[in-house]
Amino acid sequence: MAYFCHKLCASDSDEPLIDWGCNPIATLTMKKVRDETCCLAPWVSLRIGLSGEVFACNHNSSFLLGKYPDQSLKEIWSGKRIHKLRKHLRKNDFSLGCDICAEDWHHHRNNAASFTLFRKYQPGSWPSMLDFRLSNRCNLQCIMCSGLSSSQFGNESAQEDELFGEDFMRQLDAFIPHLQTARFIGGEPFLIPEYYRIWERIIDLNPQCEIVVQTNATILNERIKELMEKGRFQISVSIDSFEPQTYESIRRNASLTKVMENLDYFSDYAQARQADMVICFCPMRMNHHEIPDLMRYAEKRDAYICLNRFYYPAHLAIWSLPAEKIVHLRSDLANYKGSGASEKSRINAGFLCDYIKLLAQWEDDARERVSIPFIPEKLTKLLARFNNSLSDDPVVAEKMAGIAAQVKPEQLYHYLNPIAAYYGINLFQEFLKQTNSEIVVDDIRSIKMQAD
Ligand code: SF4
Repeated sequence: MAYFCHKLCASDSDEPLIDWGCNPIATLTMKKVRDETCCLAPWVSLRIGLSGEVFACNHNSSFLLGKYPDQSLKEIWSGKRIHKLRKHLRKNDFSLGCDICAEDWHHHRNNAASFTLFRKYQPGSWPSMLDFRLSNRCNLQCIMCSGLSSSQFGNESAQEDELFGEDFMRQLDAFIPHLQTARFIGGEPFLIPEYYRIWERIIDLNPQCEIVVQTNATILNERIKELMEKGRFQISVSIDSFEPQTYESIRRNASLTKVMENLDYFSDYAQARQADMVICFCPMRMNHHEIPDLMRYAEKRDAYICLNRFYYPAHLAIWSLPAEKIVHLRSDLANYKGSGASEKSRINAGFLCDYIKLLAQWEDDARERVSIPFIPEKLTKLLARFNNSLSDDPVVAEKMAGIAAQVKPEQLYHYLNPIAAYYGINLFQEFLKQTNSEIVVDDIRSIKMQAD
């Protein structure tokens, strides 16, 4: 399905959008691109994943641009696939794996939308931003996580020290001097040795580059503090509750007391250097009531908030609640009035506003789930999409078939539909490989339907 924006005019030009030399025509083309497209990601950024797969950003995990080491990073940056994505996005056509952004665009949620983040960069011959997700090494086992993002589920990702060794570091050396931002997620970034090597190189080759680290804030030692003194770090802390019991039931193996201590250090660092700090929060059923606390805390700390979209497991998520409950949660949040005293608090209010719009959309979906009779053909079509992507992996295909046989078709449809729309079928495939089918079956059964 193709998504088109009618607001901006399209161009059918086939001209190369990145010119590896520097010429005035390329500069004009870039200006035109900036004016025409809502998303600059494939002109300014690359995202490198666990097995060397490269995408344009962290929200498009379907449209592969290339794979390191089969191709060099430079080849990927100037390859046919990235040109294809640029060509589509230049027309604001989101059909190449940009489903999450398509949803945001069509529902006018532009404050927190992924594509908005890239507008601060200027398209050029090299990416301004590299986003690294090279390992799942982690010390926590959060309830909303899986083996995809944490090694604590018994499956450490491929030997990143072999995959991301000397050759990878040499290739990065060419990119680093051009970067404005390098972003690191895990696993837990402070546990990943390759990241330390990259941070050292950034500090040597481009000390002005902003180093964004998405951490669970459980680890802070002298080595980290020394590095932070040398580089321009921006810390983004994942904290899903301010209540010890709730926090520790979500972020298993972590202690809220310790995390708050480390958060104080990161906050002081940010204030001393006028750097940004971000507090990330996954709204779920057990912590949703704490969103106003999060807003107040962020205001006190002069931090940005990030409200992650939480879809799985469904039994912990908001989208799978009945519509009446979602209405209730939405009106609670609509009553929150921030001070609006600083620019950050106004920006955070915009993020909250987008989240409230998302709740309204989930409310409509929940109503539809129980009021519109289920049409079996919709599931057949959806399963065909999954089967097309999963067919090359017999284990996953077999698991899928086993799961489908154990649940009601309407529940299966309402479970898989958001995966296809927001999460990505190929990410789900990875998730399924590492997850016990029974867990998925129970989760699907938790979705309330008309007849329940
Ligand atoms: S998913 Fe969003 S941010 Fe990423 S390339 Fe597509 S439109 Fe841009």
